[in-house]
Amino acid sequence: MTPRVMVVVGFKGSGKTSLIEALMGELRGRGLRVGVVKHTARPYPVDTPGKDTWRYREAGAPASALITPRATAVFLSRALKPEEVIGLLGPLDLVLLEGFKEEERAPRIIVARDRREVEELRNGLEVAVTGEVAKSGVKDLGVPLLDPGAVEDLADVVEEKAMPLLPGLNCGRCGYPSCRELAKAVLNGREEVTKCVNLPSREVRVLLDGVPLRVNPFVGKVLRNVLMGVLSTLKGVGEPRSVEVKFMIEKRKKGGGKR
Ligand code: SF4
Repeated sequence: MTPRVMVVVGFKGSGKTSLIEALMGELRGRGLRVGVVKHTARPYPVDTPGKDTWRYREAGAPASALITPRATAVFLSRALKPEEVIGLLGPLDLVLLEGFKEEERAPRIIVARDRREVEELRNGLEVAVTGEVAKSGVKDLGVPLLDPGAVEDLADVVEEKAMPLLPGLNCGRCGYPSCRELAKAVLNGREEVTKCVNLPSREVRVLLDGVPLRVNPFVGKVLRNVLMGVLSTLKGVGEPRSVEVKFMIEKRKKGGGKR
């Protein structure tokens, strides 16, 4: 249920967007649901100054939204973390994170024009290099160097190496000093990503008032087993592929009455 993530990094004009467009077509053709989250360090307005949604936030609303018959746009007056955005994107198999150069919790594909750019974008989690640099004759980068036109090969890398975004707590409870070190061990085939004790459950998703709650795999398994144990006593349950349960909590007034 938690989508796997691949970061695509590169300097401006290196070809990240074209690569992601090509990957989207290939991965979707393989039956995968793929989302994209883009990051920019430039604080340019995402809403259009003067439009109603912009005016509502100027008037003090922390958030405004626009719903049309074909799309929905939500404008928040703050930056979200990638995992918070991913939680809002709905059911996906993969998410490509574009432009998160500082991200050290997931593998990355580097899009570069030359070796200097590759070296600047390395962080030990690179799984492939592509872009104009692939035509420059460089060698010995230590990771596959793929022509940007080799979309199938690049999609293979994404499918094989993408992993759930680690929490970034750097708590050491997995036996590694940081999330980056566990991610490296996973990419080297020495560990499973489930070694992270804080990773959200892939099986169970909990929303509190519509906001995703981080549920670790252990708690997720307990919730799943308890719920399935109760449901299995009911007639007609059979072997469902997924279960959705939603309930309201009635708050009690002091003195015993319901609100
Ligand atoms: S247990 Fe998870 S959150 Fe903690 S350091 Fe390891 S990977 Fe990071």
